Amino acid sequence: MYDVLIAGAGASGMAAAISAARENPDLRVCIIERKDTPGKKLAATGNGHCNATNVKCEHYKETIEFFKSLGVLLKSDSDGRFYPYSGRADAVIHALYRELRTLGVKVVFNHCVVDVLPEREGFGIVVTDKQEDTLLHAKKVLVAIGGKAGPQYGTTGDGSKIAEKLGHRIVKVTPALTALECEGPFEELKGVRAAARAKLLKDGKEISGGEGEVQFNNYGLSGICILDLSRDVIIESGKGDMKEQFRHYAVSLDLVKDYSEEELTEIIHSNIRIPAATAGDILNSIVTDQLADYVLASCNVHAGGYVADIPGLDEKKEKELAHFLKNMTFTITGAQGWKYAQCTRGGVDLRDIDKKTMQSKKVPGVYFSGEVTDYDGPCGGFNLQYAWETGIKAGKAIAKSLEK
Ligand SMILES: Cc1cc2nc3c(=O)[nH]c(=O)nc-3n(C[C@H](O)[C@H](O)[C@H](O)COP(=O)(O)OP(=O)(O)OC[C@H]3O[C@@H](n4cnc5c(N)ncnc54)[C@H](O)[C@@H]3O)c2cc1C
Repeated sequence: MYDVLIAGAGASGMAAAISAARENPDLRVCIIERKDTPGKKLAATGNGHCNATNVKCEHYKETIEFFKSLGVLLKSDSDGRFYPYSGRADAVIHALYRELRTLGVKVVFNHCVVDVLPEREGFGIVVTDKQEDTLLHAKKVLVAIGGKAGPQYGTTGDGSKIAEKLGHRIVKVTPALTALECEGPFEELKGVRAAARAKLLKDGKEISGGEGEVQFNNYGLSGICILDLSRDVIIESGKGDMKEQFRHYAVSLDLVKDYSEEELTEIIHSNIRIPAATAGDILNSIVTDQLADYVLASCNVHAGGYVADIPGLDEKKEKELAHFLKNMTFTITGAQGWKYAQCTRGGVDLRDIDKKTMQSKKVPGVYFSGEVTDYDGPCGGFNLQYAWETGIKAGKAIAKSLEK
């Protein structure tokens, strides 16, 4: 019998195993991981750079200390996002796995936890390699198998099923932090990146906003600030046509956030009066060529040739161009699904978990940490911070509960 069995060698599971084994080196700790290597998702975080925490997280200093103890230095960028000094997510995984081996934690790969069965003493844990089921036994179990976002990294939503079967309430899971599909001629804009202030509108009213780089793709918009806005697009299945629900939302982009509409009108006014200016000269110092062409066409200014030869470039048109650049609005038609989502909204209801220890209130001896629980944060290191923090808490609490 193991003292501790941990489901999932992701961010939270590894942090928990290290914390439990450090607290009590005599514990027999085993991790069961469905993939063939640890931290498959971690490797993809922060575009391969691993944005591990954020200065805005209450306990970010503890994460910095934890990583220091593993030999990983973190440094922050100007927005307070912390990454490993080397900028390499694989260095983080290497350090976590090295520490697991040093502490004698057993890690079994290519096996899936499918069920947790309370027994008279401890738990029976059903593990499968898809050919054969094995029943393992442990005094304590930590379920750290993540949510449903990014199934290609091993997370397919098993945690909610296991927890529900044990009697926990589950908050419905939906993809969060995902790119938005929008109506628009995106073929023309595909590949464009622009710094913008983005607003999310519901029925024409602003409900949230953010700033950052926006990427135009063939289906719509992505980029960190769009992923953050996607958290506020609330679609309820069973409440009418989902496509129609999406269409209540729109993204409005301000592509020239440092200038007011009046100032921008002035700039456009003087650009138009540059001697020998071509249509391209009107906006090309403000946005990329592709965007400039799109804005001009959308405002019925037909690019090509000299400005002097373009009819209708009057003051009204100058205002229209400035307004368009500051309010480029796209109706949302859908969201990219689980495969592209960076996080899961919903999961094991936190009302059924003691937040000090991450132990279940329904089934003492079972713990939950990380994304399997009902937490989702914005981009910027908040989700990994939650995974480390709850994993460390659970690991320490489990070790303490097993003290003789
Ligand atoms: C592309 C991408 C980029 C991201 N970038 C960032 C970022 O830069 N910063 C940030 O804060 N957050 C980021 N996130 C979110 C962050 O990665 C997750 O919130 C975090 O990894 C959750 O940690 P976890 O330990 O709960 O789950 P995971 O890290 O997902 O680990 C769960 C582990 O359990 C395994 N598993 C699943 N089911 C089973 C089973 N039945 N039995 C055994 N093992 C199982 C999985 O294979 C996986 O290894 C990103 C997510 C994605 C998809």
